[in-house]
Amino acid sequence: MNLLDGKKLSNEIKDEIAADVAQMKERGEKVPHLAAVLVGEDGASLTYVGSKVRACERIGFESTLKRLPESTTEEELLAIVRELNENPDIDGYIVQLPLPAHIDEQKILMAVDPDKDVDGFHPANFGKMALELETFISATPYGIMEMLRRYGVETSGKHAVVIGRSHIVGRPISILLSQKGPAGNATVTLAHSRTKNLADLTRQADIIVSALGVPNFVKADMVKEGVVVIDVGITRVPDETRERGYYLCGDVEFETVSKKASYITPVPGGVGPMTIAMLLKNTLLARQRHRA
Ligand code: NAD
Repeated sequence: MNLLDGKKLSNEIKDEIAADVAQMKERGEKVPHLAAVLVGEDGASLTYVGSKVRACERIGFESTLKRLPESTTEEELLAIVRELNENPDIDGYIVQLPLPAHIDEQKILMAVDPDKDVDGFHPANFGKMALELETFISATPYGIMEMLRRYGVETSGKHAVVIGRSHIVGRPISILLSQKGPAGNATVTLAHSRTKNLADLTRQADIIVSALGVPNFVKADMVKEGVVVIDVGITRVPDETRERGYYLCGDVEFETVSKKASYITPVPGGVGPMTIAMLLKNTLLARQRHRA
């Protein structure tokens, strides 16, 4: 079994970006500036945004965190989005999801300038991704593709089963794996909550990407020998014996599945850190495009 070490790989990518930023500084150019908008006090969102801001500091990006109260109205948030769209100092920004229930997420994401949409959630960017045009690919699927490419995992002609059809993970990764090019050319099955006989499908899979958010859902009897397993799931499972009161659990029962897998990502330390690295990569791209 080979571990797809997202922590190590993401550090390599961050070092590469940091070297680019150092060169930008030497040339007297403006460095990339990422902003993040966080509404409310959701614990997981606070952790994610905190990691993104720290990562910016580490590689020499400028960063701005806009924290807004849970009571923020849709109009107020739209005004902030417009402000960020118009601010020439900001190269890219993200609006951390989920948003409070009284705010229409779709409306907010549609208002983000596609040229600054480093999360790649705007329909213009998603559409370009599907058409294989240059764009911002959302960070999680982008991170998975980069991981497969850098580890030299063969995907061409392989059967990939993606579990989960969300707009931010399952659907885009199913499109990317089927496209031409490195880490592409796979034959993809997209499974979801209405899929029948899922285990029959996963047992045929050469590659499984699991993005459903159910702890230990994929078990050893659902996979074949030599399978490549990408575990996107991150669930906080309550555990009073731990100081922070929970532990992070993936969708895959790592203990048993790893014994059959040729490659597997751990949770934590797999797809999560890659997601952050690729968000930074998109921000660097945004800076380069705005300069061009
Ligand atoms: P989501 O809740 O939007 O979608 C879940 C999908 O799973 C749905 O399409 C649903 O049809 C499918 N599903 C649910 N139950 C199923 C079942 N029994 N069989 C087959 N399919 C089923 O989730 P999401 O936003 O894509 O996130 C999925 C998981 O990935 C979560 O744990 C989330 O925290 C994690 N995540 C991790 C990262 C990262 O950076 N590592 C990024 C995004 C999401």
